[in-house]
Amino acid sequence: MIVLIIGVPGSGKGTQAGALSAQFGFTHLSTGDIFRAEMSSQSPLGRKAAEFVNNGHLVPDPVVVEMVASRIQDIQEKRYLLDGFPRNLEQAEALSAVLAKQGVAVDLALFLSVSHAEAVKRLGSRLWCGACGSVFNIRSLPPQLAGKCDKCGSGLIQRGDDGAATVQKRLLIYEEMTRPLVAYYRAGQILHEIDGDRPPEAVSGSLAAIIQSLLAAR
Ligand code: AMP
Repeated sequence: MIVLIIGVPGSGKGTQAGALSAQFGFTHLSTGDIFRAEMSSQSPLGRKAAEFVNNGHLVPDPVVVEMVASRIQDIQEKRYLLDGFPRNLEQAEALSAVLAKQGVAVDLALFLSVSHAEAVKRLGSRLWCGACGSVFNIRSLPPQLAGKCDKCGSGLIQRGDDGAATVQKRLLIYEEMTRPLVAYYRAGQILHEIDGDRPPEAVSGSLAAIIQSLLAAR
């Protein structure tokens, strides 16, 4: 089963994708996480992506599509969850072309609907561990020890692109480039919209129910 998750920055895509992957055994492919890891290790891909990621812009399509296509190729069991990809219609078309060559298609597009006001609030209080990628939130998911990662003990920081000005830019880019994907996948009859303004456990429950019913119908 191939699932993707769409939502405004701060909608909880990463958190929910991680939880669903653990529950249902999906490989979790987050393009944002991949870029941040590549940037930390200063790989050629990381160096190429850094200026776009740090400024809140989208990394150019050819770079992203090539990276995702190669990662998808490496996944043995076709059971994965794409988080943060596609981000525009061109990427969505490129994805279906890559999948068509493998004789598969996206089965389910999950749309986490979250207001901009809520997203801004969440991003403003988000903390990130640069060492292991864990995410915390001062308001809703504080670390046990202030400023330290629960998982690896490293210092927590605000993500470089979570500053107020960059967040506004990312929201504008989302509306212009990414939101059209909602209509695109709705037209393909594989879109499910979930109210993401609720507490994380309630959102997880709704998402899990959708996947369960799809698995049961197969
Ligand atoms: P995210 O962790 O999903 O919020 O992504 C962080 C940043 O990585 C984005 O603001 C973009 O700069 C870059 N990025 C992630 N996914 C994509 C994508 N599919 N296309 C272009 N850029 C992306």
